[in-house]
Amino acid sequence: MIVAMKSDATESEIEGVCEHVRALGYRPHQIKGEERTVVAVVGKAQGVDHTSEFINYPGVENVMAIQQPFKLVSRQVKSSKTIVRIGDIAIGGDELIVMAGPCSVESREQILETARAVKQSGARILRGGAFKPRTSPYDFQGLEQEGLKLLAEARRETGLPIITEVMSAEDVEMIAEYADILQVGARNMQNFTLLKKLGRAGRPVLLKRGMSSTIKEFLMSAEYIVAHGNPDVILCERGIRTFETATRNTLDLAVVPVLNELTHLPVVIDPSHATGKRSLVAPLAKAAAAIGADGLIVEVHPTPDQALSDGAQSLDLPMFEAMMQQVRRYAAIEGRYVA
Ligand code: PEP
Ligand code: MN
Repeated sequence: MIVAMKSDATESEIEGVCEHVRALGYRPHQIKGEERTVVAVVGKAQGVDHTSEFINYPGVENVMAIQQPFKLVSRQVKSSKTIVRIGDIAIGGDELIVMAGPCSVESREQILETARAVKQSGARILRGGAFKPRTSPYDFQGLEQEGLKLLAEARRETGLPIITEVMSAEDVEMIAEYADILQVGARNMQNFTLLKKLGRAGRPVLLKRGMSSTIKEFLMSAEYIVAHGNPDVILCERGIRTFETATRNTLDLAVVPVLNELTHLPVVIDPSHATGKRSLVAPLAKAAAAIGADGLIVEVHPTPDQALSDGAQSLDLPMFEAMMQQVRRYAAIEGRYVA
């Protein structure tokens, strides 16, 4: 249920509603919009309709049921788009934010060279995996904490904030000491222990869609993070499993307008994991810009053929520069700009 307050409702009227919500055994979530505050009433359904109790409360405009199973992330609860801020970077605003970097941090030289180059081409955030979810236990598993230190060094030198994956709840605090954004990989989208922990991580989270997840399941996972206290969630489509084998995954581009109808959270596209093939990354990055994605996350490596993971889908530095020039034009058509 949502209790929409009048635009001139006072703080004490809002608090009065919240107190009554708590007294009924639910949790109030205040969402302050540009015009009014709404109080979302969340918690385990008790099968009782409290609508009439709230409608006569001072300062209340109206009371509505939330139709979707996801509540706090739904457009119904918050009609204005959420902007996730990292320093002076705003994800979900007029700038299309490009995050770029290697699949895995491999060495000091590799991450520094990539960071300098992607910054030069207009990337605003540096990506790089230090804890890697690999299909085979015999493949490179990442440099772990050493990789995080190298990312932090690249941030010091270039000023680019960093995004890196966290695979388990135990690592959240340690990784949050280094990272500006915590990435949840596709394989962990429904790791609910991890999602709950990220609710209290104090860092924005980029949540990747599970490779066999519906949009509803995707949004329920985002709901976990927000319900546990963290409103700064960025959704990332990275391709889903289908019968098709010509690409590594199938990029579900329709997700951008679908999510924009259902949720206020920003949406970014990962054309690298979606395709698995370098030559396909720029075309889909352009498509993502044209369809109104809020950002891109792209794998870039100085020497992709020597990469320890995902080399086939990694752009080299000149290819990334060329992609950025193309994306800039498509973003402009959508009224967006790219650095
Ligand atoms: C990655 O970003 O390198 C990664 C492992 O992505 P995904 O979780 O989408 O497979
Ligand atoms: Mn990768």
